[in-house]
Amino acid sequence: MKNPYAALGISDAVYAFGEKKLAQLQDRFAQIDAMAERNQAKVLHALQENRVDAACFAATTGYGYNDVGREKLEQVYAACFGTEAALVRPQITCGTHALAVALSANLLPGDELLSPVGKPYDTLEEVIGIRPSPCSLAEYGVTYRQIDLLPGDCFDYDAIAKAITPKTKMITIQRSKGYATRLSFSVEKIGELIAFCKKCKPDVICMVDNCYGEFVQEREPSEVGADLIVGSLIKNPGGGLAPIGGYICGREDLVSRCAFRLSAPGLGQEVGANLGLLPSLFQGFFLAPTVVAGALKGAVFAAAVYESLGFRVIPPSNAERCDIIQAVEFGTREGLLAFCEGIQAAAPVDSYVTPIPWAMPGYDSEVVMAAGAFVQGSSIELSADGPLRPPFAAYFQGGLTWYHAKTGILMSLQKMVDAKIVEV
Ligand SMILES: *Cc1c(COP(=O)(O)O)cnc(C)c1O
Repeated sequence: MKNPYAALGISDAVYAFGEKKLAQLQDRFAQIDAMAERNQAKVLHALQENRVDAACFAATTGYGYNDVGREKLEQVYAACFGTEAALVRPQITCGTHALAVALSANLLPGDELLSPVGKPYDTLEEVIGIRPSPCSLAEYGVTYRQIDLLPGDCFDYDAIAKAITPKTKMITIQRSKGYATRLSFSVEKIGELIAFCKKCKPDVICMVDNCYGEFVQEREPSEVGADLIVGSLIKNPGGGLAPIGGYICGREDLVSRCAFRLSAPGLGQEVGANLGLLPSLFQGFFLAPTVVAGALKGAVFAAAVYESLGFRVIPPSNAERCDIIQAVEFGTREGLLAFCEGIQAAAPVDSYVTPIPWAMPGYDSEVVMAAGAFVQGSSIELSADGPLRPPFAAYFQGGLTWYHAKTGILMSLQKMVDAKIVEV
């Protein structure tokens, strides 16, 4: 086969190397396609069951009272994720905001929050008050406890049982590894942990940070006992089309409190104009299972390419996937930078810029980021980032289509070859 990427600057040797790896991944790709097929049917059923029609796409402004489309979209999310209720809004600005709303709506002064899976995502440290911050939960008298994972990423059940006290109001479980080097948790494993926590305290509220996990497996954490699942629409469930937004799905009483926190007590879910965004939110959700499948193929391909070149990859190419994130440890600054340059050079937008490391607030080392996305900051689109400290790991995710994710990986490999870091 002729190299279709020659005009983009990918050599015949790099292309051929990629094709050889790809030939070994056909079974994995078939599994990913089978998952997308199941999840596509699930989303379609939720749309049909709720009788979505053209009237749902009308724009509302101002208060947004009686917004039929907004209500339908929330019913579709609830049906698809198997929950009583859903709050899906462009007024939720990002994943951190959605998580902050879910936590602050359901924790009152004197309550305690427990993370039984170690340190939460970086931005939640300020939400919780692990790093002092104005308006953190800590400032409002909510305390926090954390139980770290045991070696092998196992739950420390003895310590968790001891940490759950009458004060423990909520449990937060992060599905994806974030910037940690642990594995991400499967929905099944999350279900076991929730069952254990509920055995210790039946009325404890279990929330799952579902970022990057949607549609990767057949079920969502809400289908194995989570009272709330929370995520961002510029990741998996927005399907690349949502320009902004977040969701909180779960028990009716808990989601309703989230709506009061997001808008105002007394107003809740009744206000919030859709500003004409509903077609993208509906259509993005419809496309999300196939978009996620493309991103997953890209992650598996990246793992296969880089593990065969001797780099440590997390997870390995043959491992079960629980989210769309792929980490590759390059071991050197040059390796990490070359990889990110390749991802940037493959972008449909801003492909001509060179990613430069910078000292990002909240990080203890410089960070390099590569992204050229249609939606700014969208990480369901092809993107990569990594802190410039050992082990110089790149965290890679997204790709709106499998072919684009593939181009990104081939381009990253080309940059590594050009910099004489690897040979193919
Ligand atoms: C992305 C992410 C968040 C925060 O989302 P933002 O949209 O960046 O605020 C929280 N938790 C996890 C696991 C994430 O991946």
